[in-house]
Amino acid sequence: MWITGFLMTVGTIWVLAYLGANSLTWIGAFLLGLGLVTFGTEISWYISLPLWLAATAIVLLLGVPRIRRHYVTAPLLKQFRKVMPPMSQTEKEALEAGSVWWDAELFSGRPDWLRLLRMPKPRLNPEEREFLEGPTEHLCRLLDDWQITHQDQDLSPEAWDYIRQQGFFGLIIPKRFGGKGFSALAHSEVVMKLASRSIAAAVTVMVPNSLGPGKLLLHYGTREQQNHYLPRLARGEEIPCFALTGPDAGSDAGAIPDSGVVCRGEWNGEKTLGVRLNWDKRYITLGPVCTLLGLAFKLYDPDHLLGNDEELGITLALIPRDTPGVQIGERHIPLNIPFQNGPNQGHDVFIPMHQLIGGRQYIGHGWKMLVECLAEGRGISLPSLSVGAGKLASRYTGAYAAIRRQFNLPIGQFEGIEKPLARIAGLTYQMDSARQLTLGALDIGEKPSVISAIVKYHLTEKYRECINDAMDIQGGSGICMGPSNLIARAYQAIPIAVTVEGANILTRSMIIFGQGAIRAHPWILKEMAAAQHADKQQALTDFDHALFGHARFLIGNIARSLFLGLTRGRFSGVPVHGPTRRYYQQLHWMSSAFALTADVAMMTLGGALKRKERLSARLGDILSELYLTSAVLKRFEDQGRPEDDLPIVRWCCEQSLYRMQECFRLLFRNLPFRPLGWLLRLLVFPSGQPYTETRDNLDHQVAQVLLKPGDARQRLTEGIFVTKDPSFRQGQIELAFAQAAKVAPIEKTLRIARRNGLTLGRDLETQAQEALEQGLIEPEDAQAIKEMQRLRALVVAVDGFAHYGKQNAIRPDPDKPAIYAVRSGHV
Ligand SMILES: Cc1cc2nc3c(=O)[nH]c(=O)nc-3n(C[C@H](O)[C@H](O)[C@H](O)COP(=O)(O)OP(=O)(O)OC[C@H]3O[C@@H](n4cnc5c(N)ncnc54)[C@H](O)[C@@H]3O)c2cc1C
Repeated sequence: MWITGFLMTVGTIWVLAYLGANSLTWIGAFLLGLGLVTFGTEISWYISLPLWLAATAIVLLLGVPRIRRHYVTAPLLKQFRKVMPPMSQTEKEALEAGSVWWDAELFSGRPDWLRLLRMPKPRLNPEEREFLEGPTEHLCRLLDDWQITHQDQDLSPEAWDYIRQQGFFGLIIPKRFGGKGFSALAHSEVVMKLASRSIAAAVTVMVPNSLGPGKLLLHYGTREQQNHYLPRLARGEEIPCFALTGPDAGSDAGAIPDSGVVCRGEWNGEKTLGVRLNWDKRYITLGPVCTLLGLAFKLYDPDHLLGNDEELGITLALIPRDTPGVQIGERHIPLNIPFQNGPNQGHDVFIPMHQLIGGRQYIGHGWKMLVECLAEGRGISLPSLSVGAGKLASRYTGAYAAIRRQFNLPIGQFEGIEKPLARIAGLTYQMDSARQLTLGALDIGEKPSVISAIVKYHLTEKYRECINDAMDIQGGSGICMGPSNLIARAYQAIPIAVTVEGANILTRSMIIFGQGAIRAHPWILKEMAAAQHADKQQALTDFDHALFGHARFLIGNIARSLFLGLTRGRFSGVPVHGPTRRYYQQLHWMSSAFALTADVAMMTLGGALKRKERLSARLGDILSELYLTSAVLKRFEDQGRPEDDLPIVRWCCEQSLYRMQECFRLLFRNLPFRPLGWLLRLLVFPSGQPYTETRDNLDHQVAQVLLKPGDARQRLTEGIFVTKDPSFRQGQIELAFAQAAKVAPIEKTLRIARRNGLTLGRDLETQAQEALEQGLIEPEDAQAIKEMQRLRALVVAVDGFAHYGKQNAIRPDPDKPAIYAVRSGHV
């Protein structure tokens, strides 16, 4: 009897918690339970009376709002204010920027899968498709990356002209201003395709369409500014750049020392109110060739020409290059990827007020403007470039592994090579899925700041993994540089992608979870807003609402994590059937576990979590893996569940689940209060830790996708520059790859013949001749082998140079230690 009662009580509490019941339901259930015990059992009065008294006290304390606020909420609010992390103005503005979207679902612990699956798949319109197949394809053919990177250190004049004339700088500018008005998807596809041909060209096109004058004017420009500058930018008559970073302000960009002082000065021969600027910036992309410089600086008004305040905050302005005092011209050399990049300075540069972006209205709002634009742009530029590189590695390193032979076999057939090949394919699939999901969100008007940080960080890191693997697989042919090497520049460019638009260590350690926890959590921001409310009574009411909502949320996640952990996600309702159903269920489990762990970490560490960057980073990793896996599942559905993609989908899901588990494990181990870690481990993994690295057999299946022509490979690498023209390196590899697939069965026959002593020749051509003479193969087979050997030799060949190092001389300039000047000749 007692056992049944106990189990019923536990069961009821669990169900109510799981369902997130409100306080009335809890109180009702509590009283009902107590009533049943009192009147349905033989319990003596001296036990039931104290129980009823305690119950009455609890009901009064928690169920009557006035009493609850006074005795429970008010002391907790006081405590909350003490532990609430201190926040700078720039952090506050960063938090307010952008919107929350699927990240909030993942934070909820019970993601609404239908919401994800119903999201429209992003599609190109006919005009965008035409631009990709026409001008973008043509530009790809025009670009000679070796000429650009090794000989000219610049795009050719022809390529520059083409980019400007065809409107590549105006992809995001609306048609009414003469731009292309493209979707985020089209913008990304252009950058991705160019990146697969020349990273220098991709960066050149990407920057004006990302964070810069164009985007800032679109969002904040005055009508006059938009009408004047946007058509000129769209036509390529202006080359823009944006200068934020300086020698003393890199990651901590809010600390820029560059200043503007409100004063009177002369502009176009007329006296006017304006700003006198002094700045020192570096690393500015397109800086050396820009005609229009976007500038971030701190504005001061010591003479009170605008009002009472002296320090007006970060402000943005547009400076024509030829304004007196502007000094531009030198170049940095960013790892031999010679897109235009360099420092610039301004000495007492005077501009009128109408050159401030957005005019007076936006004075002091510069940081918010930047982070808002970054929330969008960061989800497009570098992710697209990274996917371009991943697809390049998938297509051409995969092909290389099928063509290159060692120990009498294509190297792709060795188990050791299958592992990195599978990783390249899996990560590329994952990257492209995340890119497309994020673009879909941007195209329906979301500005998901946390998600854009996730894709910036993870896609550039996965790009790094893919290209490192590609390097290992290609051996010497990846290392020796020259026109025939398709991956070396992608390899060199990795640190650039990792460093710009929010350096990766910082993004992982501070931004993803740091912002995500506050932005995407259903209650934290509400609690913080309540705690900061000026009206004390309102603060208490709002905090009370948020606090008890939060408590319900926490209890729900405890119940869900434990239940889902015991069942490993089974029985959780998901709207998908078939081979991926279990992954949705397991993600539900991980999402609940994440919501619970994040809450516990925030509650116990408070503001200290901000300094515990390693813990914050691991929580961010779990959130990110949840996002990446959602993207993979969504892509699989969007593409009609192609059977031959299933091994890659499985690989991605299993890899991510394993990574999440490992992040949880390390997180629990490193929580400062160890018993809390033990408790969380019990709640999250009550039935053990089930995930491991992907199985060998799965790696084998995934590697096969890259080693043979087929639909899965085609889908995986869609959108990059591909040609069968043998005057391009890509074309040579494509032809050899197709031939390799054709001769694979013939090579197998030759291998068996040799093993059985029927042929003795050392090379394939001789073996084919012997086999032909013995009637083991047909004449056309022998011819195919001969052709394969010719194509293979072409693909395996690397470039050689007669005069290496003769004309190169780059020496540090002793007067400018940060800048290396090209003294003579070409690098
Ligand atoms: C090729 C190139 C192009 C660029 N283009 C532009 C441009 O067009 N316009 C522009 O304004 N800027 C541009 N930048 C600047 C770029 O945004 C900065 O390089 C970047 O913000 C990092 O600053 P930093 O290089 O000074 O590194 P630092 O800020 O010195 O950082 C060094 C390391 O410390 C880490 N770090 C810093 N703070 C923390 C923290 N709190 N926690 C953990 N880790 C931390 C960083 O992640 C990084 O790994 C460009 C840079 C490069 C290299």
